[in-house]
Amino acid sequence: MSQFDVTEQRKADWESAANALQIRDKAYIDGKFVSATSGKVFECINPATDAVLATVAECDAADVDRAVKAARAAFESGVWSAMAPMNRKAVLLRLAELIRQNLVELALLDSLDMGKLVNDAAMVDVPGSATFFQWYAEAIDKVYDEIAPTGPGDLAMITREPLGVVGAVVPWNFPLDMATWKCAAALAAGNSVVLKPAEQSPLSALRLAELASEAGVPDGVLNVLPGYGETAGQALGLHPDVDCLAFTGSTAVGKLFQQYAGQSNMKQVWLETGGKSPNLVFADCADLDAAADMAAFGIFFNQGEVCSANSRLLVERSIQAELVEKLIARADAMQPGDPLDPESKMGAMVSSEQTKTVMRYINIGKTEANLVVGGEQVKIDGRGNFVQPTIFDNVDANATIATDEIFGPVLAVVPFDSEDEAVSIANDSVYGLAASVWTDGLSKAHRVAGRLRAGTVSVNTVDALSPMTPFGGFKQSGFGRDLSLHSFDKYTALKTTWIKY
Ligand code: NAD
Repeated sequence: MSQFDVTEQRKADWESAANALQIRDKAYIDGKFVSATSGKVFECINPATDAVLATVAECDAADVDRAVKAARAAFESGVWSAMAPMNRKAVLLRLAELIRQNLVELALLDSLDMGKLVNDAAMVDVPGSATFFQWYAEAIDKVYDEIAPTGPGDLAMITREPLGVVGAVVPWNFPLDMATWKCAAALAAGNSVVLKPAEQSPLSALRLAELASEAGVPDGVLNVLPGYGETAGQALGLHPDVDCLAFTGSTAVGKLFQQYAGQSNMKQVWLETGGKSPNLVFADCADLDAAADMAAFGIFFNQGEVCSANSRLLVERSIQAELVEKLIARADAMQPGDPLDPESKMGAMVSSEQTKTVMRYINIGKTEANLVVGGEQVKIDGRGNFVQPTIFDNVDANATIATDEIFGPVLAVVPFDSEDEAVSIANDSVYGLAASVWTDGLSKAHRVAGRLRAGTVSVNTVDALSPMTPFGGFKQSGFGRDLSLHSFDKYTALKTTWIKY
């Protein structure tokens, strides 16, 4: 399958590759695929067709305990944690290569499992995962420790040490990438990891664990437990032998992980949570077509199931009508379709539950604001869970659809009259994950970017992101950062060793 040319693929090619898939459906503990201790399984549903894709091991507290024991034993043995960084680098570079070689399979697993366009998975998610593993592999033998300027007679060394067992609990919107953001940095730093993917999308993580073994990651260093949040996720959060819990998901569940830590061993908890990111378009924006293109991408990409989705469009009133007209045209051109069809512009929602949630918000929106495009749930070939790209104009900044995270393809357009008003509306949110600003004014760009309370501010683009720059939130969007060297702060502890001579 690695010979498959992604840029040349047709729907029939993806379908036949999908039919040939061999799905890994067991938990991955200590280098082996194993059934859940209870013997239970749960169904993975393809949301584009409502068909059962696989029945997967349903892990719970007993399996969490097994996996944590394996992770701890591997960590204490030093087989990975004490390996020279150059050697860990070689293993993780092999893993990056294996991800590239298995691109078709990994892209299909994510697309079938959670409804995203297979083209996006193949061109964004899977290459991204390989790049992130490669980046952390290449970084790990270039990070130096410190010597404090104590003066003669003393040598105070400040070293970074891996924490031990890292629990990672991740969501379904970018299954492989969200797992990678945690695992690449945590593994590069020398930790063992117990990963719980979302119950909606466990399949690519299971294959990732197998590829990690093939690359040379020792048994027990990366364990993957499919299962539900309330059982497996909670057990990981409460486990007394987990040193650090890295979470990406909703703000409500993030708060639970803080409680789990307080109720158990005070493990470090790092949260990447929700967002309601504002996209501020000023009248002096140099290229309104580019702003419209990126505003549409910013809310409709991945069906709007993006934590940093630009779900609030704050537009200066003098250009509101023109921009909204351009956005309607773009929404019309981005109708959902079969995720395996390269011609489709938007995929399926992750589940029927998420579709109901999004439709509930759309119905609230119809009572709060002016629906200008979309607003309907649709079926493709008579089945599946799809929602039209939807735009509400003239939304009050305090309306439900302008304040709640919807996590779907629903844009709230809020007009403003001044820079102060725009900044004040943008910051009036419990979230602070990302923001975008469109202006041709250099001073205004810096001034507004400086005033926005968000982890990432993109100017004249949206959702700027790379392995080189930290990603994370202010306020209830979380704390701690994924990506960049700063991510190592989450997975290492500083040690001072003071030598008197
Ligand atoms: P979610 O919080 O429902 O689930 C995330 C993970 O937590 C899943 O693995 C789930 O099984 C687990 N979980 C659920 N309930 C739990 C419980 N009671 N105890 C322990 N674990 C539990 O979120 P979701 O619906 O999968 O994802 C959507 C959310 O994720 C959105 O709010 C989105 O903004 C957020 N997200 C944030 C980022 C970021 O980087 N900030 C990235 C992607 C998604």
